[in-house]
Formats: sequence, structure tokens, C-alpha cells
Amino acid sequence: MAGAPTCTSCNLERTLISIRPGRNRHDVRAYECPACHDVFRLVIQREPLVSDDLIDVVFDSPALKAGTR
Ligand SMILES: [Zn+2]
Repeated sequence: MAGAPTCTSCNLERTLISIRPGRNRHDVRAYECPACHDVFRLVIQREPLVSDDLIDVVFDSPALKAGTR
């Protein structure tokens, strides 16, 4: 994993203080600087943990549908 973002004012690594679920499988992570307490929010794509999406892709595949006819 990539490291936490750095506070450009203090040159310190920020601390992850919260992760909130966002839209479209994105999470909003809040990083706080331990020195000046400036909060920096970062929107990142959630990592796929379940393979259900892969199954959907297979069933939506036009090549599969064409093969049944
Ligand atoms: Zn700072």
C-alpha cells in the first residue's frame, strides 16, 4: 500500500483518522497532520473483495449470449 499523504507545511506523515464510504465504490479517507491538525481528504476506489462483479461481467457478455442462439 502507498503511504499516507504528507503535510506540506510540517513535512510530517499524516495519520488516517477516518474512512467513510462514498459513491460508486469509493471511500473517502481523512488524514490529519499530527502537528497542525490540518485534515486532508482523499477519495480512493475501494478494492474489490468479492468476486460477484466478475460473475456479472460474464453474464453480461454479448459473446456468451450469442453462443446460446
Ligand atoms: Zn501539518
